[in-house]
Amino acid sequence: MLARRQFLQLSSMGLSAIGLSAYKGKSAVQKPIVISTWDAGIRANKAAWQVLKNNGRALDAVEQGVMVTENERNCCVGLGANPDRDGYVTLDACIMDEYANCGSVAFLERIKHPIQVARKVMENTPHVFLVGSGAQQFALSQGFVLEKEGLSEDAKKEYEKWLKKSEYKPQINIEKNQQAFVPSRLSDGSFNHDTIGMIAMDAAGNLSGSCTTSGMGFKMRGRVGDSPIIGAGLFVDNEVGAAVATGQGEDIIRVGGSHAVIELMRQGVTPEIACKKVIERLYKIKGAKAKDIQAAIIAINKNGEYGSFCLQKGFNYAVCTGDNNNQLIDGKFLI
Ligand code: ASP
Repeated sequence: MLARRQFLQLSSMGLSAIGLSAYKGKSAVQKPIVISTWDAGIRANKAAWQVLKNNGRALDAVEQGVMVTENERNCCVGLGANPDRDGYVTLDACIMDEYANCGSVAFLERIKHPIQVARKVMENTPHVFLVGSGAQQFALSQGFVLEKEGLSEDAKKEYEKWLKKSEYKPQINIEKNQQAFVPSRLSDGSFNHDTIGMIAMDAAGNLSGSCTTSGMGFKMRGRVGDSPIIGAGLFVDNEVGAAVATGQGEDIIRVGGSHAVIELMRQGVTPEIACKKVIERLYKIKGAKAKDIQAAIIAINKNGEYGSFCLQKGFNYAVCTGDNNNQLIDGKFLI
């Protein structure tokens, strides 16, 4: 935790007050490092760390890391997630590497690992983004298997509950208990979130990122949020840093969230201040309505400094820099 401790010390000396990176131009780079959104990030980081500690590529780490979450059938990422309002789970994902290669899929159904399909789009097509039945057709052509239709136990219960009122109030993280921004626990003890975003720097100092989601629970059929959109949900610039977002996708798209964070870091601003400035921009646009939503961004820069900022209390993210150094940190918040 060198970077964080020193950052805190330097902060108290006032360097962060002006928002400039304490490490800019210095050699104390914290690497490898992987950070990811929400508490599911702890389990995902572990898998990513196995790649990073063996001098693997950040790209492989962020793919294998989020696949753990996609596999957690009770989680709200992957095929175990809450469905759209018509009862179908539709998945979005994207991935980006150190060469600015990127791939995305959206509105993808019945494929277990959308992040792997996104990587195939990146590597095996001249395109960046495939959606819907076209994305599914492409996945099958790449050897992916069409999974059975149907919902996980948790998702089924949630959907049946939701159907009683069929209210269309797409509010992030409050589908279950209707208590704003207090994440609800699922039967396995994990929390109810819709997305995992992961960014990493490998031992060679290269950056990559991934993001995978089922989107909002009970969303309108066909709705796609920020998560698979390069520049909104995820952005990586190997000269500068990487950023990934979670929360109300529509509003993260409005501010080009992840790309905006990278551009601020390019000017020498710390990851935390860069995230804060973008969340402030989002807050300004939303005005009074900001209290009804959550939005959060996490970022790392080329020096291995990391940071986050969110709109509301309740967001956390997992930071891993070693086998025994994988911890959950509460995001600083605006409101
Ligand atoms: N950003 C995701 C979306 O809007 C949701 C989330 O992060 O929980 O689809």
